[in-house]
Amino acid sequence: MYTMFTLIITLLLGTFAALIPAAWLAHRVHPLAGIIGWIAVFLMISGPTVIRWLRWRKLPTLADYKSQNPDANTKRGIQCIHCGGKRIRNWGVWNAQDTKRTHICETCNSALYRSYGKR
Ligand SMILES: [Zn+2]
Repeated sequence: MYTMFTLIITLLLGTFAALIPAAWLAHRVHPLAGIIGWIAVFLMISGPTVIRWLRWRKLPTLADYKSQNPDANTKRGIQCIHCGGKRIRNWGVWNAQDTKRTHICETCNSALYRSYGKR
């Protein structure tokens, strides 16, 4: 797990480290090529962040989840609409302490709803 994580980080950092001089060189060759290069660097750095945030934003809030899926709101707690599982864990969007939480069914791994604030 740790070695896999280190490998992924190294690959990502390597990609950015290679792209920044490439954009700088392109800028020296032609300003327009440089601008395109810098946009590519910017998208590669911010892309994953924006995608994670957009995925979180697309999820319903707990109140919306309950009103959209009346069956999911049982007397014994919230239930997964996909498999009926009642074990729901919440994950931080960026890290374990993040106040933006994604609530995921422990049985089938579906993202069910989002919340904001401390748990
Ligand atoms: Zn489920």
